[in-house]
Amino acid sequence: MPKPDYPKPDGVLTFDRLSSVFVSNTNHEEDQPVHLQLKDPSIPVAYNLPLYDEPAQRYCPAGVYEIVGEAEGDPKFVINAQNCVHCKTCDIKDPTQNINWVTPEGGGGPNYPNM
Ligand code: SF4
Repeated sequence: MPKPDYPKPDGVLTFDRLSSVFVSNTNHEEDQPVHLQLKDPSIPVAYNLPLYDEPAQRYCPAGVYEIVGEAEGDPKFVINAQNCVHCKTCDIKDPTQNINWVTPEGGGGPNYPNM
């Protein structure tokens, strides 16, 4: 399928993902145990990337998952767990059910003080 060509966020009606993560006040302690675990760390690059262009890059609303180094021919799957807003989409939507979302340490995650 051709890649969709989405318009850039205009900052009025549409916003980029990381600006929205900033508004959620999401935070996790730097030294807490990782709460996004891969059952098999090889699957994102060996299976999901060639078959589906690693959909975690797109379905995660917080941009937690990235493929880096693809242009250099050495792709790596990077998990920026600090930004996770606890929606659990990855736990459900990964094509091979390879991502396991476990409960993070208390106090971590999004914080909407006016809700
Ligand atoms: S739980 Fe939601 S925000 Fe967190 S990594 Fe998974 S898809 Fe992204």
